[in-house]
Amino acid sequence: MKHQLLIPCLALLIPCLVMANEPETNTGGAKRDTVQAVVMYGEELLFDAVSGQSDERIEEIRDSVLIHHGRCELTANIDLYLSMKNKSEEELYVYVDSLFEAEGELPYALINQINLFLANRADELPKTLPANFFLGTAESLYPAMDFYPFWNTEKPNPYPVGLGARDTNLSILLQGEGDLGEFHIPVDNVITSKFGWRDGRNHNGIDIDLQVWDPVKVAFPGVVRVARSYGGYGRVVVVRHYNGLETLYAHLHRFKVKAGDRVEGGQVIGLGGSSGHSTGSHLHFEVRFKGKPINPMSFISFKEKQLVSDTLILKRTKYSYAAYPSGIVIHTVEKGDTLYDLARKFGTTTYKLAELNGIRRNSYLYVGQRLRVI
Ligand SMILES: [Zn+2]
Repeated sequence: MKHQLLIPCLALLIPCLVMANEPETNTGGAKRDTVQAVVMYGEELLFDAVSGQSDERIEEIRDSVLIHHGRCELTANIDLYLSMKNKSEEELYVYVDSLFEAEGELPYALINQINLFLANRADELPKTLPANFFLGTAESLYPAMDFYPFWNTEKPNPYPVGLGARDTNLSILLQGEGDLGEFHIPVDNVITSKFGWRDGRNHNGIDIDLQVWDPVKVAFPGVVRVARSYGGYGRVVVVRHYNGLETLYAHLHRFKVKAGDRVEGGQVIGLGGSSGHSTGSHLHFEVRFKGKPINPMSFISFKEKQLVSDTLILKRTKYSYAAYPSGIVIHTVEKGDTLYDLARKFGTTTYKLAELNGIRRNSYLYVGQRLRVI
């Protein structure tokens, strides 16, 4: 069923990309064309010029670009945008899956663009709190053991390449009361390299500029899983968090933690440097879920030094996860809270709160209970 959809999907998307890029060398099969298209797009926002515009306006922009510049990257982006607009969410995820089947390294940049595009279709966001909403706990020795069957202190990414049948779409609460803690920016400086496809290979994180000896802070509370030298990463720290994510900090000059240490959000875990394969001092920062790299910029606003939203939706593709922030807001019930108070505080109604959380309007709320309020 899925593979029947795959062919028209590719056929629609690929021709405009390749034509704009290298018309004479269009001799490879669909797989090669896919990779070429991704190299062309890089990590920039593809649809900046047209997203949110009316169809008529988009046509106008496209025509004017064609007249003045001919067929170019921008017209290819507009064609891609228009072809995506008319696809269902299911068709787009089939297309994402097909990208994972292409040879070579995975084109996370293009995949991320499609996910951002889908994220902007707000009406398709889940309307009720999903049953598989992960709220994080500190009940076991190590964080998020719901997702990770083992604890490995040797390898930054010891997890299997593929995903299992039980790995489904889910939402996670990124920050909150108790063990989840609050987000902290690891290094407050300029981003010098973004996530995605660059120089013919994939960049699984982002690079943040720093001076040697600058402190590097951990993004969320958690337990240090790896703190050692490892290949091109140089001195690298990996921390598992209670929200289910793992974050990685590479090219460090000095360690300030060791494997097994419990860390608070914002704690200094090392000093920045240039160890490993690095051309100048910087922090290489990765976010992963079950070993699958996620674009940190899809849920962190580095400009505002805070999360875009407290919750993150993880969409399963065939071999990986793609992430985008959701508008869900979770409130932890405090002593004296009533459904009526919360409705007033968050500008909603008790009917809506009851519906969102699958509870009765006269339900007894308990302290520490997490309720979806928006
Ligand atoms: Zn890097």
